Amino acid sequence: MIVVMKAGTPELEVNRVCDELITWGLSPEKIIGKHKVVIGLVGETAELDPYQIEEVSPWIESVLRVEQPFKRASRAYRHNESSEVVVPTPNGDVYFGEHHPLVITAGPCSVENEEMIIEVAKRVKAAGAKFLRGGAYKPRTSPYAFQGHGESALALLAAAREVTGLGIITEVMDTPDIEKVAEVADVLQIGARNMQNFSLLKQIGKQSKPILLKRGMAATIEDWLMAAEYILAAGNPNVILCERGIRTFDRQYTRNALDLSAIPVLRKLTHLPIMVDPSHGTGWSEYVPSMSLAAIAAGTDSLMIEVHPNPKKAMSDGPQSLTPEQFDQVMKDINVMAKLMNRSAEREPVLA
Ligand code: PEP
Ligand code: MN
Repeated sequence: MIVVMKAGTPELEVNRVCDELITWGLSPEKIIGKHKVVIGLVGETAELDPYQIEEVSPWIESVLRVEQPFKRASRAYRHNESSEVVVPTPNGDVYFGEHHPLVITAGPCSVENEEMIIEVAKRVKAAGAKFLRGGAYKPRTSPYAFQGHGESALALLAAAREVTGLGIITEVMDTPDIEKVAEVADVLQIGARNMQNFSLLKQIGKQSKPILLKRGMAATIEDWLMAAEYILAAGNPNVILCERGIRTFDRQYTRNALDLSAIPVLRKLTHLPIMVDPSHGTGWSEYVPSMSLAAIAAGTDSLMIEVHPNPKKAMSDGPQSLTPEQFDQVMKDINVMAKLMNRSAEREPVLA
């Protein structure tokens, strides 16, 4: 349930309403939007009478039920305003969200060695990426496949951050690793295979670094938003949703089916920022450029693209990785499309 306060309600009055609702046994959450303040009420609200709440203050504009099972993740919870996730990096704050320029994240599937990660970091930065991606802990289908270099790879990501000033996005696979990954990463990635690892979601929601939540390969949009709800409910409001393709019947020509329709659907359902990963979404580097442009046209807020200096020799996901030269070319096209969609970095962010 949300309590929408009238524009210009004095802060003291908002606090008074919150205090009153606390005496009713509720846990109000103040959400300060660009235009209005909304008070969110999550929990046992089924018995509450909206008219009774409206009586609490003449400054209350309306009291609305959030119909979806995801509450904090729903767009209604923010009174139809998109939220933004701000990530401080050595090169400055980067904003993810509907009213900000497109953000590009790029890098190899796995961090293989120092030379390659530094080289890729420099190349993707020069092409315009704001974040370096790279796995230290890799979720692999086969236990015999390369599992990532673990902690030593985290040190290499830290070195790449130091050299380039790029923000770092890397995956956390297991709860005991959260703290050490969070020491290096600016954004913590939850991979597709862990999207419904609820104990991991609860624990990661207790720390303050932003989370990139990838869509499970067999997850419905509601499953995905409920997974985001776990993180939000645990206290971390900074969640970015990443569409990375879902399983369908065709595995011969594409690794996954990139669900671009998820972009406008998410925009309707949630206030959270959106990312698209066309590399895992298709499984083949030749499809990455067209799907990147299509994702921007569909309204994504950011892209994650795998780039490797020598894809043929990659320890994981070589077939879907672009060379730095191919990435340079894609970035040129991405910039054209971003301009067309008014999401270019060359303009000031618009206010909602
Ligand atoms: C990755 O980003 O390298 C990865 C393993 O992604 P996903 O969890 O989407 O498969
Ligand atoms: Mn990968």
